[in-house]
Amino acid sequence: WSRDTVAVVTGANKGIGFEIVRQLAKEGITVVLTARDATRGAEAIESLKKQGFQNVNFHTLDVGSQESIDALAEWLHTTYGAIDILINNAGILDDPNEVNLEIAKSVLATNYFAVKNVTKTLLPLLRDDTPGGARVIVVASRIGQLKGLPNKDYVTTLIDREHITEDFVDSFVNKYLEDVANGNHNKGDWPNWTKLGWQRSMETYAVSKIAVIAYVSALQNTLVARHEGEKKINVFSSCPGYVLTDMSPNGIKTVEEGADTPVWLALHSPKEGLGKLYGERTILDF
Ligand code: NDP
Repeated sequence: WSRDTVAVVTGANKGIGFEIVRQLAKEGITVVLTARDATRGAEAIESLKKQGFQNVNFHTLDVGSQESIDALAEWLHTTYGAIDILINNAGILDDPNEVNLEIAKSVLATNYFAVKNVTKTLLPLLRDDTPGGARVIVVASRIGQLKGLPNKDYVTTLIDREHITEDFVDSFVNKYLEDVANGNHNKGDWPNWTKLGWQRSMETYAVSKIAVIAYVSALQNTLVARHEGEKKINVFSSCPGYVLTDMSPNGIKTVEEGADTPVWLALHSPKEGLGKLYGERTILDF
């Protein structure tokens, strides 16, 4: 790796995203820390520079705004020409027990639709000749594993990784939103982690993470199906573990531990498990 290698991390002003930037910067890579708030982003960059990292740069990115994503893409193109690594880390968790349409739309907008929009917009900027292929990593969660999804018809389709399509994942998410709108979301089809021993239902958040894990497989399928000779891009999802951050005040892992697997995937891009979910540097069941 060299300073010519460029990585972009979303939602990186704090928490796991900030630590991902720090660990990548330590490798000597040029890292673009993005954040929706310019002041919080500038403070994060300042703190990294004080730690001795000069190879970090900042650009604003609100993942929920296509205009903001386009502005980032244009800036990346002008500044670097191309990028090697994209890490979709930004995410939100609203009240893990309450479900309503407004919350569901906002969680899915950030944790699912925004991941797709950022990835699609930046995909053309991924370099053709990154050694081992350019990489896209999504920070998902074990909570998106299908053991939490009671509707077996969905499980059957989603688990068939090699045939999963983005359209199906969209229809899965839109059906959930429709069920929330109609008040049918708690009739047994959707995740309820209290039944699996958790204290919190995590329904909407779990749907959002199931959806991004499935999207990663669908995207990898699309990329693999491209003609030989087109640029190579490897896509992975990852679970950081239960990490102590503002999102998870009871988390038991450090951010250093949480950032480890996404950073490892970004640096090593393992040959096995393309499009799959990783945790602790190993492939996890979907
Ligand atoms: P934090 O709440 O500490 O950080 C979340 C980051 O996402 C913040 O920088 C936040 O920015 C940013 N963000 C939220 N919405 C947007 C947006 N619209 N545009 C740009 N940035 C945005 O959480 P974590 O570090 O814990 O979470 C990082 C990722 O890890 C998330 O995807 C989360 O779901 C996932 N994860 C976390 C686990 C944990 O135990 N902590 C477990 C499993 C997965 P701002 O400061 O402006 O709000």
